[in-house]
Amino acid sequence: MTAIATHEELNVYESAEARFEIAAKQLGLEEGLYRFLKYPNKEITVYIPVVMDDGHIEVFIGYRVQHSLVRGPCKGGIRYSPNVSIDEVRALASWMTWKCAVVDIPFGGAKGGIICDPEKLSRAEIERLTRRYTAELSEWLGPEKDVPAPDLGTDPQVMAWVMDTYSMHLRHTVTGVVTGKPIDIGGSRGRREATGRGMLITCNKALERFHLKPSDCRVIVQGFGNVGSIAAQLMHETGYKIIGASDIHGGLYNEKGIDIPKLIDWVYGQHKPLPDFPGGGERASSQDILFRSCDVLVPAAVENQITSQNAHQVDCKILCEGANGPTTAYADAILQEKGVFVLPDILANAGGVTVSYFEWVQDRQGFFWRENEVNNRLKDVMEHSFDEVVQVRETHKVNNRTAAYMLAIRRVASALRLRGIYA
Ligand code: NAD
Repeated sequence: MTAIATHEELNVYESAEARFEIAAKQLGLEEGLYRFLKYPNKEITVYIPVVMDDGHIEVFIGYRVQHSLVRGPCKGGIRYSPNVSIDEVRALASWMTWKCAVVDIPFGGAKGGIICDPEKLSRAEIERLTRRYTAELSEWLGPEKDVPAPDLGTDPQVMAWVMDTYSMHLRHTVTGVVTGKPIDIGGSRGRREATGRGMLITCNKALERFHLKPSDCRVIVQGFGNVGSIAAQLMHETGYKIIGASDIHGGLYNEKGIDIPKLIDWVYGQHKPLPDFPGGGERASSQDILFRSCDVLVPAAVENQITSQNAHQVDCKILCEGANGPTTAYADAILQEKGVFVLPDILANAGGVTVSYFEWVQDRQGFFWRENEVNNRLKDVMEHSFDEVVQVRETHKVNNRTAAYMLAIRRVASALRLRGIYA
């Protein structure tokens, strides 16, 4: 059993701030710009009335935080979860600013969330909740203002409802108001796989540094949703051996490797619990799987999985962060001391927002690309961003996370200096 990290350590907003502070100090960022970039631009709270299926009215609390508009429209997912809080949304919004800047796409950061348990709502209730949330926010959203995407608990169908509601208010179809939409209504080919594909690309680059081949690598993936299952699938296809996988119901560990296509069919085709996968391997808890020996560890579920209380148990060469904020700021130093090569979230999982950017470009052009065109452009962006982060790491003798933040803050600060402060 691992001890519990403190409340302060687990506050994701404080974790995000701690990383920002380290990188800003290292960069020698001016006091005024530091103050400007530390705070969000705008925070909106909405109380969303929904008529439930049984006829009673429920009121849900929703947020949208726009952290930065300095480099372009705000960009960031919408999360439906009982654990949503304003601090979490604030942290996720600022991470989006840095993530977009690391991969050098012309967006600022935002995030939205509704405190609800989507597992306990019917599809019709989720649709009404989504439409009313969108209607409440409609003046703040738009292709030139703020462009949501799916996140935990939301999916392409939810994005379709956001797009439709916004379009009904404007009286014409505005596909570019959200990304991660179904392909039939302006979504991009390759978007569904983009976050996992970006993770594969950055892992492949990291492997070169260790002179390892994918077939030499044992991988453990925590979280088997959009990000985790697709990363596992693409890594499996590339020759990596996936020896552990878990979701909220528990995990499986198998030294010989798990048959990932069959596991995906079990979980998504047959809708069965992941740990019940026949012949899958030894059962493990969702969290214990993180501490088995492997070469590449992929936390792709939720925040705060690797903390000061358990980081010493992590036994991998490469930590590829699929989730946002899976590692606390307190755990960073322990991982660094252990020599773990961290692919930080704002780099490793940036493939999703990169193809979201491609989707926004395609919607605005009204011209849609073939899947290999999307994937090739994504590869180019991810490889280039990886090289840039490593270059900052080597020049400033910092770890990868601080290097990624430095690269991002430098870009946003430069745009801010050029624009100046409007008075
Ligand atoms: P999802 O809802 O599709 O999947 C989440 C998965 O995590 C599910 O398998 C769930 O069972 C599992 N899970 C939840 N709590 C867990 C726990 N305590 N232990 C183990 N497993 C647990 O969500 P997703 O879109 O795959 O997002 C996962 C993470 O990746 C989030 O942090 C999200 O912010 C981040 N992310 C997502 C995208 C994207 O394109 N979807 C892009 C960048 C980052």
